[in-house]
Order: sequence, then C-alpha cells, then structure tokens
Amino acid sequence: MALSVLPHKDELGIKDGQSFVDGEWVEGTSGESWTHVHPATNEECGQFGVASAADVDRAVTAARRAFDEGDWPRWKAKDRIKLLRRVSELLADHADELSRTQTFDNGLPISFGSIYQVSADFAADAFDHHAGWVDKIAGETLPTYTGSDFQILTLKEPVGVVAAVIPWNAPVMLFAQKVAPALAAGCTVVLKPSEYATFSVIRMAQILEEAGVPKGVFNLVLGPGSTTGEALITHPGVDKITFTGSRLVGKRIMEAAADRIARVSLELGGKSPNIIFEDVDVASAAATAMGMVSFGLSGQGCVCHTRALVQESIYDDLVNGAVAMAAATTFGDPFDPAVTSGPLINQRQLDKVVGYIEKGSAEGGRLVCGGDRPGGDLAAGNFVNPTLFADVDNSMTIAQEEIFGPVLAAIPFRDEEDAVRLANQTNYGLGASVHTNDIRRAIRVAKAVRAGSFGVNGYTVMPNAPFGGFKESGLGREGGRQSIEGFLETKTVTIALTDSPI
Ligand code: NAD
Repeated sequence: MALSVLPHKDELGIKDGQSFVDGEWVEGTSGESWTHVHPATNEECGQFGVASAADVDRAVTAARRAFDEGDWPRWKAKDRIKLLRRVSELLADHADELSRTQTFDNGLPISFGSIYQVSADFAADAFDHHAGWVDKIAGETLPTYTGSDFQILTLKEPVGVVAAVIPWNAPVMLFAQKVAPALAAGCTVVLKPSEYATFSVIRMAQILEEAGVPKGVFNLVLGPGSTTGEALITHPGVDKITFTGSRLVGKRIMEAAADRIARVSLELGGKSPNIIFEDVDVASAAATAMGMVSFGLSGQGCVCHTRALVQESIYDDLVNGAVAMAAATTFGDPFDPAVTSGPLINQRQLDKVVGYIEKGSAEGGRLVCGGDRPGGDLAAGNFVNPTLFADVDNSMTIAQEEIFGPVLAAIPFRDEEDAVRLANQTNYGLGASVHTNDIRRAIRVAKAVRAGSFGVNGYTVMPNAPFGGFKESGLGREGGRQSIEGFLETKTVTIALTDSPI
C-alpha cells in the first residue's frame, strides 16, 4: 500500500490553521491560503489562511497595546513565574501529541521526535528554566568617579514588542527558545512560524492560551516569509526581531532592522566541522559522523556536523565505517517507529541538494555512497540517500556552503594544527566537535576553533546553555542567562545625594 500520512490528520484533530491575534483565532484577510504538502508523500494534507499586512498590523498593535498599556510588563514576578510554569506543565502533558504534530508538519521520523533536543520536553524545560529567571532579573549598583555626590544604579527593563520568526526544522523547540525568554523578560510577542511547519506551532499557541497568557501578549501570524514575514520585520511597532533561519534571510532581517535600529538576534546556518583524531574508536566515530547527516531530518539541522575532518592514518577506515552507517538508514512512514530518516522539506530543497551533489562530483569529490534517491513507494516523497564524498578539499563548494541535506564531506588532515586551520576555514561558526582521548588536545582544539558551541566526544544542546554562532552563523545567544538578557534593555539611573550636584 502506498505511503500516506493523511490518517494522522484525523488522529491529531488537525483543522485548517488560523492566526491568533489579540486573544482571538482569526482567518487571514489576504484572501490567500497556503496548502500544507507533506514532504514524505507530497500529499496535500492541510491548509491555513495567509495573514495579510493588515493582519500583521493588528497583531503588532495588540502586542504594542499589551506592552505599553497592559499589565504584563508590570506583573508580579510570582504571577509570571506561575504562568510560565503552567505553560511548561501543559507542554509536558501534551508532549506526545506535539511530537506527532511536528512529524505531521515536517516529516521528522517519530523515532527522533522523542530525542530531547527537538521534543516538547525540551520546550517544557525551556519554559521552566526561563520562569526561574523572572525573579532574578537584576541590575547593578555602581560607584562614582567623583566622590559621594551621586548613587548610580542600573535597571533591567523588557525591550518591548518582539517579532519572532522561526524555521520549519524544529518548530516546537525553537518556539520555546524564543517565546519563553521573551515572556519571562516581560516582553510581548508576535511570532511567525515557517509556512512549512505551522500545525505544531498552532498547538503550542493554543497551550499558551489555555495557560492564561493575557490577550495581546502572545500573537501568532501565519504565512510565507515574502509577505507575512516582510510585513512583520518591517513593522515600525516592533522593538526587537529574533530570527532563526538561513543566513540569506538573516541578512535581510538585519537590513530591515537597520532602518529603525530595531534590536536583532540571529540564529543562522552552519558548516560545522567534526574533527576526528587517530586515537579514537574509529567505528564509533564513523557512526557518529555519518549519523549526524543520515538520521533524523537527513542533515536538515543547523548544527549537523557536515564536514568530517579525519586524521590521515584512519581516513580509509573512517570512510568505510561511514558507508556502513549510511547502509543502516531506514526511510518510510515517518510515524513508523522503525524509520530512522526523514525526507527533505520540499521540492526546492530537493533540487538544491541534488544540485550540490552534482557539484561535489564536478569539483572532484569522490562519491563513495548515496547521491541517488530511493525508489518504489518512497519515490513520491523528497527522500535522498545518505551521501558521502571522500577526498574533499575544504575549498570546494560542498565543504563551504550549507547544503541542508544528507551530504557528508570527509576531509583528511595531517596534525592538530592542520585540523584547526581547516575547521576555521569557513564563514560559518555555529558548532564543532572533536573526537580524541587526549584531554589536553581536546581542550586546546576547543579553544582554537571559532564556533559558538563545541562538543568533546559528543555534542548536545540544553535549555540552560547558551547556543548561537560566531561569524556568519549569527548574533546573540539562546538558552541560559544570555537568552533573557537579549530581551532586556539596561537603564542607568543617577541619584543626586547632595543639594547641589553638578
Ligand atoms: P528560511 O531562512 O528560509 O526561513 C526561516 C523563516 O524566515 C521562515 O519562517 C520564513 O517564512 C521566514 N522568512 C523568509 N523570508 C523572510 C523575509 N523576507 N522576511 C521575514 N521572514 C522571512 O530558513 P528555513 O529553510 O525555514 O530553515 C533552514 C535554515 O534555518 C538553515 O539555514 C538552518 O541552518 C537554519 N537554522 C538555524 C538554527 C540555529 O539555531 N542557528 C536552528 C534551526 C535552523
């Protein structure tokens, strides 16, 4: 029987999507609707009304009103903590349903939906973590240079109305990474999810409503980037834009923000290196290296380590191990727990990845496995077999550009110095890893590689740990104290202590 995800639409109770503006669920007034096409089957399986510029204006106006005139920024810490913890509890209660809805959105195999970093459990913990900051937002008291004529102190205040724009690959986790710290700081939010992953985000918005987030404090606008997204990022009522997505759109966000000096934080793409030294268990390192791009969303993760830098002495063994790992890939119905790997999100991404594979061969990479697409029932979906290029030079296109697909480039290195040089030879700087049993070397390499997060013999992301990029991988950090700081302004207050201050 041909693959179909449609039965899950009823099981999950998915209805046509609506925007959430000023406490009400509304149809977009653009007169246009967006059809959700499932990437594993290319079936049309849902739709939503596109929010027009007028809808976005209503959402920003509601958020503006809730911030400027409403109680939200002035709520008692105790009440805000309670509300954010309630959101956290509801997310945890609905974790399974949210994970299935995410699979309905983007085809992430359900076997990976429970992996902590992309799960509703992560989202629940992010709300819980940020609830914990609410009563710890604190300024400083400072001495003066001129004696005891003044007392100086700083206040931390919410930045205002936040426009949050997120991609399709981890909607549940990324919703929480943005909305939890923004609300904890006392900001109000208008969020635009990706047009390719809306239903799990709608479900999360319903959970915020159920938890009792006041009218206008959280708003959701649905639609593509070119219309709904542009209306949001260029709206003069927005004080800060927090964006996760591609480098190209990140640059456009900065441009739009520059016009009115809006605050910006950006979580962009990567070309993360995985440095593998000869003193490790090669089979295990090879499985990790290939698993990063072949399992889960088939390499469609910002921090997938798509460059394997491998010491020359173990290079051939590592390549053979990676091929064996690629053979363990199972495609199929993403709701089947035995399936390990998902499809590419849409036809455009499929064409892009196929184009990169052709370019890899044309520029002299040695195609060791993959490069093709599975047939039979799977031909209807956007699947690509895990692909390994060996003997890649770090200057080749496939070693420099983010492919966002199941393509691993294996690049040999001589020694530690060579490995660090190659790792840093990129415009990106999101993640990196080293595999070695020499702890001193691990620390030297961790310090030398320019990336926002670094794994030693393993890599992870947590709600309380800052995550973000060096170089063109972004600006700012999500997770932990730095995350909430990104939604605060600092105000310096000077208090005269004498009758005749200067
Ligand atoms: P994308 O940049 O195409 O889209 C991201 C979001 O921006 C979507 O909601 C889209 O509708 C919106 N958008 C597009 N054009 C816009 C515009 N002109 N104005 C306003 N909004 C606009 O990215 P994508 O394909 O959804 O996601 C993949 C990218 O996201 C990859 O580059 C990946 O590395 C990156 N990513 C980064 C992180 C991170 O934390 N650093 C996490 C996940 C994904």
